[in-house]
Amino acid sequence: MSDESSPDIKTIKHLAKMRCPKCGEILDQIDVYDIPIEKCPSCRGIWLDAGELELIAERGNTSGNWLSKLFKKLNSQ
Ligand SMILES: [Zn+2]
Repeated sequence: MSDESSPDIKTIKHLAKMRCPKCGEILDQIDVYDIPIEKCPSCRGIWLDAGELELIAERGNTSGNWLSKLFKKLNSQ
């Protein structure tokens, strides 16, 4: 038996990365404070990589963004 016809794991991971974990739709990339995040056009889910939420909160801090307040609150607990 050979695995040669199977897509390799890197390809699978790359394809999965571009799709919504919830509904499988191909994600749109949008910029929030110049940080690229993924948004699902189907279920409207927002997907962040590690550290991106923190960066958005920091950059939104100057305008008193609710997200930064939320993140600080979470960090203080
Ligand atoms: Zn979705």
